[in-house]
Amino acid sequence: MQILVLNSGSSSLKFALLDPVSGDVRLSGLAERLGQEEASIRLDRFAGGERERSEESLGGGAHTEAVARVLAELDALGLRADVAAVGHRVVHGGETFNAPALITPEVEAVIRACIPLAPLHNPANLAGIEAARAAFPELPHVAVFDTAFHQTMRPVAYRYAVPEEWYTHYGVRRYGFHGTSHQYVAGQAVRMLGLNPGRHGLIVAHLGNGCSVTSVQDGKSRDTSMGMTPLEGLVMGTRSGNVDPSLVEYMVREAGMTVQEVTGALNKESGLLGLSGLSNDMRELEEAARNGHAGAQLAIDKFVYRLAQTIASYAVGLHRWDALVFTGGIGENSSYIRALTMERLGSLGLVPDERANESTVRGEQGVISREGWVTAVVVSTNEELMIARQTAELVKV
Ligand code: AMP
Repeated sequence: MQILVLNSGSSSLKFALLDPVSGDVRLSGLAERLGQEEASIRLDRFAGGERERSEESLGGGAHTEAVARVLAELDALGLRADVAAVGHRVVHGGETFNAPALITPEVEAVIRACIPLAPLHNPANLAGIEAARAAFPELPHVAVFDTAFHQTMRPVAYRYAVPEEWYTHYGVRRYGFHGTSHQYVAGQAVRMLGLNPGRHGLIVAHLGNGCSVTSVQDGKSRDTSMGMTPLEGLVMGTRSGNVDPSLVEYMVREAGMTVQEVTGALNKESGLLGLSGLSNDMRELEEAARNGHAGAQLAIDKFVYRLAQTIASYAVGLHRWDALVFTGGIGENSSYIRALTMERLGSLGLVPDERANESTVRGEQGVISREGWVTAVVVSTNEELMIARQTAELVKV
């Protein structure tokens, strides 16, 4: 039994066919530049420990053509009959969903109603759902929301100190994102460290191109650093994270920019890219900093400073703090960023293990601290597997 997992962006579609129990992937890939002349699809087929990759044009196709190509591949590989359900990553579920949902016309309507909160993501997710339902009308389709895991936050964490009717009329509050990753990684860490599933405290740092920190108590999200949108919180690849909201009006007035231009720059031209003036890619910045690039060094230092500050502040909301968990492209691979972060957290009882930290990269997982009040651990995230598992669980296959 296999689950097809789809993650649709505005011009892309990531897909994977996998076994929700073993996690074994049979087919995966990425369609990009959808809706444009150069639309293409990459297919990776896995059998007997071998991978076979191919890439082809989609002739200007969009989500419908990409899904049709995946379906044709399933037929060609004789795997179509094994597909039991389709799991869709959906970015914003508002306050309605605290768990995955079987997609019905009512559920689709709620995803549509959340478009103002995620104007780029939810329409793309709906395009993927529409294309997949047309291609696989006989299968159950499940929506797995990025926001759902964080619905256990209390008002003290999710409300902004703004006029109440902004919340009651317009839904202005903190929702949080990366929920599927945080939930998966927290569960893995509890197992790896032998913690009590009903009594533990974790702080999970998901550090990729997008970055967020979540405090997890007894399996539930207590607080998370992304807010109403993914712009809040940490310094990220191209997002600023927290800034004074007054700078928007200031830049409109002083630089003659529109509100959309300022918001666009805070999302796409800021963060590591903005500070370094060089790149949003941590690998490149580490190398440039080693070669004396002052902007790259400042970007790294600011990234780590904000990260360590956020982690320390999240310890305040937990009853107990057992472990700090690193995940995501940077969290799983950059021993340098982890070392700098742990160093800053020394006063909270974290004792780094230099050797373990340096060797825990490229898919290695495990503890990277010595005995202390808090354990630091690296866990590889796997959002596709989490979506497949939650989909299988919901449709009881
Ligand atoms: P993700 O969005 O999870 O794929 O993470 C992307 C980020 O991980 C980029 O900033 C990459 O530069 C970073 N990354 C991946 N591998 C490494 C590495 N070996 N050292 C430092 N950063 C890395």
